[in-house]
Amino acid sequence: MTTTLVNHSKNAADIVAHAVTTTRAAAPAWAAAKRRPYLLSWKRLIHSRSDELIDLVCAETGKSHVDATVEVTLALEHLDWAARNASRVMSEQRVHRRLLAFNQSAVVRRQPFGVVGVIGPWNYPVFTPMGSISYALAAGNAVVFKPSEYTPRTGQWLAQTFAEAVPQHQVFEFVIGDGQIGQLLCEAAIDKLAFTGSGPTGRKVMAACAERLVPVVMELGGKDAAIIADDADLVAAARSVLWGATFNSGQSCAGIEIAIVVSGVYDEFLEHLSQQAKGLVAGVDYGEMTTSAQREIVERHVASAVDAGARVVVGSTTPIDGRVCEPVILTDVPSDHPAMTDETFGPTVVVVRASNIDDAVAIANRSRYGLGAAVFSRRHGDSIARRLEVGMVSVNDVLAFGSSPELPFGGVKGSGFGRIHGDDGLREFTTAQAITRRQFRSPVRISEPKPRQFDQLALKIVGTIIGRF
Ligand code: NAD
Repeated sequence: MTTTLVNHSKNAADIVAHAVTTTRAAAPAWAAAKRRPYLLSWKRLIHSRSDELIDLVCAETGKSHVDATVEVTLALEHLDWAARNASRVMSEQRVHRRLLAFNQSAVVRRQPFGVVGVIGPWNYPVFTPMGSISYALAAGNAVVFKPSEYTPRTGQWLAQTFAEAVPQHQVFEFVIGDGQIGQLLCEAAIDKLAFTGSGPTGRKVMAACAERLVPVVMELGGKDAAIIADDADLVAAARSVLWGATFNSGQSCAGIEIAIVVSGVYDEFLEHLSQQAKGLVAGVDYGEMTTSAQREIVERHVASAVDAGARVVVGSTTPIDGRVCEPVILTDVPSDHPAMTDETFGPTVVVVRASNIDDAVAIANRSRYGLGAAVFSRRHGDSIARRLEVGMVSVNDVLAFGSSPELPFGGVKGSGFGRIHGDDGLREFTTAQAITRRQFRSPVRISEPKPRQFDQLALKIVGTIIGRF
């Protein structure tokens, strides 16, 4: 494979265009191939060299070994599932016709788009982009991947192992660089763009793709809440909320940032959460934060929340020590403060008191985001989950939807649209083609020149047969 390392060279656009052209040339043969064995070979190669990949992820992001291991494990699980399920999801579907087209046989075919551009973030440099790459490739597309500028070598590793495992098909290229290169990829001759990153960048990506009407999947940020009802197992809920808030040092799009606790169990829950948080060990339970910009955001949210009257129950008002951020539990944060409304993306959790479940649901739904949520309740978890304006909910757990490849992953509202993972995630990287075949001449003659007075006859038919039921 060609190594397409792009800096700010004048020919950056040419290099991006070359990656698209190369993969486009290989795409038809890939779309026609039985892709499952190729993708399973790639999975086995990644698995056999996963120590190398985990070390690389740790080196580029500073995350803990256990967090990187979880990430790679999840990516392998998704690649395996996408490889094994694409042919089922893409199989041709025969459709039953209704009255107006009863003389036609009809099928729906699923076709790959062609070349899919994938732009990834730094927080999960394997799991997140692979949610698009695995599913797009399994659906028969070629992929040009631009990893985050903070994790270029991880992106390169993924493309190079694919080239090693599947030398017959040059359908996975990578280009390296910052947002400018991402912009060039959006402007290149791609057929679909899968973006994972922040909302402000997502808007720029959509604007660039709009020029050529390139369809997009938007996996954006979140401000996920956990609701703790008065019938919850409080010890287990505290354990899950703490993990959901601190896993990957809180740098998870669907990490828990707010715990909304019903008044009757508020004090007891806060006590469990605080006790458990005090037991976390830096370097073991959580690693470094990846970027200085992100550390500054966390520091700013905590300090200004305290200025606005918040109480630090665990941690400190200056939680950053070098590249590490200690976990922080805040209470009494004003509802319009950025620590309540914006993505903090650090190991912080704001604990909020709700008068009852209706109030808790209203507080959660006030968010402009709508990625994921968690609900802790022994008896009412499902009914509370159904009232939340989010794309994914875990009941009596956190982030469980991310480890289930059968489930669609994605958000609503400011968290984006479109889905990766699951049947929906495979369909996201296909277009539907409808094919009808006339079997005999229909007296209804919808798609033929009409006899006189047809309009009255048609209305009569509609009135008698369709309108009556
Ligand atoms: P970001 O928006 O800064 O960057 C994301 C990617 O976009 C990077 O590769 C970057 O180089 C590229 N980019 C920047 N400007 C661009 C432009 N004008 N055109 C095209 N590409 C451009 O995000 P980040 O800081 O890397 O990642 C963190 C964000 O990602 C958080 O908001 C997090 O919640 C979100 N995220 C969402 C999900 C999800 O599945 N919903 C998963 C992981 C992360």
